[in-house]
Amino acid sequence: MPIASVNPATGEILQTFEPLDAAGIEQRLARAEAAFHGHRSTPFTARAELMHRAADLLDRDQETVARTMTEEMGKPLTAARAEAAKCAKAMRWYADNAEALLADEHPAQADVTDSGATRAYVRYRPMGPVLAVMPWNFPFWQVIRFAAPALMAGNVGLLKHASNVPRTALAIEELFQRAGFPEGCFQTLLIGSDAVEDVIRDRRVAAVTLTGSEPAGRAVAAAAADEVKKAVLELGGSDPYVVLPSADLEAAVATAVRARVQNNGQSCIAAKRFIVHTDVYDRFTSAFTEAMRALRIGDPMDEGTDVGPLASRQGRDDLEELVEDARTHGARVECGGDRPMGWDTGWFYEPTVLTGVTPAMRIHQEETFGPVATVYRVADLDEALALANDTPFGLSSNVWTTDRDEQERFVRDIQAGGVFFNGMTASHPALPFGGVKRSGFGRELSGHGIREFCNVTTVWIG
Ligand code: NDP
Repeated sequence: MPIASVNPATGEILQTFEPLDAAGIEQRLARAEAAFHGHRSTPFTARAELMHRAADLLDRDQETVARTMTEEMGKPLTAARAEAAKCAKAMRWYADNAEALLADEHPAQADVTDSGATRAYVRYRPMGPVLAVMPWNFPFWQVIRFAAPALMAGNVGLLKHASNVPRTALAIEELFQRAGFPEGCFQTLLIGSDAVEDVIRDRRVAAVTLTGSEPAGRAVAAAAADEVKKAVLELGGSDPYVVLPSADLEAAVATAVRARVQNNGQSCIAAKRFIVHTDVYDRFTSAFTEAMRALRIGDPMDEGTDVGPLASRQGRDDLEELVEDARTHGARVECGGDRPMGWDTGWFYEPTVLTGVTPAMRIHQEETFGPVATVYRVADLDEALALANDTPFGLSSNVWTTDRDEQERFVRDIQAGGVFFNGMTASHPALPFGGVKRSGFGRELSGHGIREFCNVTTVWIG
């Protein structure tokens, strides 16, 4: 099957690509192995220079890169520009900080003397070629947040990107090449998901990271486990957005809308379940519904568009099914709940707010990957916390309260990889990112992310 770039706003096929055959994959794996031998022993300063050059090129080419993303997966152009800028920032952050993050660690001599060591320390060494299986939703950012730390640590990257964003995948490969990274340091493999297992099993591939759905994560992690190779998984989320009485309600509503519909609602860390204290429930729900209804649906290339199409027909159909299931089982549709009038081409869906959701509905437990919000009423903090944790996922969470004790309670008891108070979840180069439960394991970004694909080497000198 050819790999196709299709404009989700129109359904138009923009370009198709033949997947790599076995010889093409072999050639790239051999190149990756050869490149690792050179790259692993280059000094941090040399790697940093190349990474800075790549960031500068990305800033310079921001408009072209942003348009490619929008054409392929439909995010509003303004968001695509912001994504490119965020990538350049993360590249610079790792260029400037990788050496310190991976500096040798020296335990106190007194702590190791009884091991017989005159000296002992820890060195973070690169592991080799790392395969990155990546999704289409943030087609540049998801890749860069893997690639920047991996390359700075001395690893080399192999990218299997989602099949609907091949032009973005090739643009990323080209970016690193133009910046001067030696051939083979970062390569795109244009392959389908059926070819991934063999790549993981190849002896030259040291480890794998995947961002995407749970079934994809399970398949990749199973192959990695069978080969006893390290894997990092960043899977879905159904993040709670809890609003308690002390919240600044106006800010909580405005942020709730952004947190739900960012990227046309297709973000793993989007707030998806809005859990609101009964004292502020009516005011929150009516203002939130109004604001969701007022969003402008449109061509993602238009500057005024708030919500563009979903990235694929399948994605739109899956979302529609979840809403229909909820509606059939008695949920109330406060706004939206349909395909928008006048947008028959492309895979659009209206910003939607549902109330009266019960555990019998699929939407209570499944991830909504589109602009659909569920709003729940709770009597107190205990009920809010219990509902927030009543999900198979555990990526991040948002809580609106100014009460320190309430904040501390969430820090202690929320089952998630992050908790953001009085704001929305966002990734940042200096902060770790990742989840618990079915949201995956391992961390990206920060020092935690760069060390995931390092051989933590104990050096003991007698
Ligand atoms: P997938 O998880 O199917 O795709 C993500 C990546 O994994 C793609 O590169 C895909 O390749 C690859 N992949 C898929 N199946 C396998 C497999 N069995 N073995 C190896 N690699 C595989 O995401 P979808 O695009 O199908 O989205 C489905 C759902 O996943 C969404 O509705 C959402 O819930 C969740 N999702 C979560 C994301 C996140 O950021 N956490 C991002 C995207 C999706 P290919 O494209 O060739 O199939």
